[in-house]
Amino acid sequence: HRRDATVDLKAAIRAIPDHPKPGIIFRDLTTLMGNPEAFRATCQALADAHQDRGVTHVAGIEARGFIFGAAVADRMQTAFVPVRKAGKLPHKTITKSYALEYGEDTLEIHEDALPEGARVLLIDDLLATGGTAAASVELIRAAGGEVAGAGFVVELVGLPGRSRLEGLGVETLALTS
Ligand code: AMP
Repeated sequence: HRRDATVDLKAAIRAIPDHPKPGIIFRDLTTLMGNPEAFRATCQALADAHQDRGVTHVAGIEARGFIFGAAVADRMQTAFVPVRKAGKLPHKTITKSYALEYGEDTLEIHEDALPEGARVLLIDDLLATGGTAAASVELIRAAGGEVAGAGFVVELVGLPGRSRLEGLGVETLALTS
């Protein structure tokens, strides 16, 4: 079940210019998910990168972080915890708002999602400014978990994402500008 080095993950990702607005190049991972070799290699590589960190829970960020995160949790034989957009989780939540380029967004985690001693691997599809991931790190900690690592399929270089997650064991599979 090792990563197949012959699979070109970057080539499996589609770039959509000017989506959702002018000037943004949207990295469309549905093409990677639609390619069974690429999808499998991606999930395996994310799991392999964090294998020796005592991970007990994988936290996936809504929505694309659910897709990869759940597959990684299954591979690592850990629990899965959803970090959701505001108003979706049914039980008592911890809430964190964070700044977007224009406006703000809010993420939530169930307050009882993590037991004491939980070592959490955070997973999302893409690391850009790091705002989404940094807010998720705060939620994990507020729920009593320790961040054991953070894995992303794509990292946009030239943005402060990685520096905002300093010391958290960030692993990314494909770099792009
Ligand atoms: P950020 O909080 O700036 O690191 O943005 C990361 C979140 O926004 C992730 O959940 C991504 O799915 C999404 N995102 C940001 N920029 C892009 C992009 N260029 N292409 C696809 N998704 C993006």
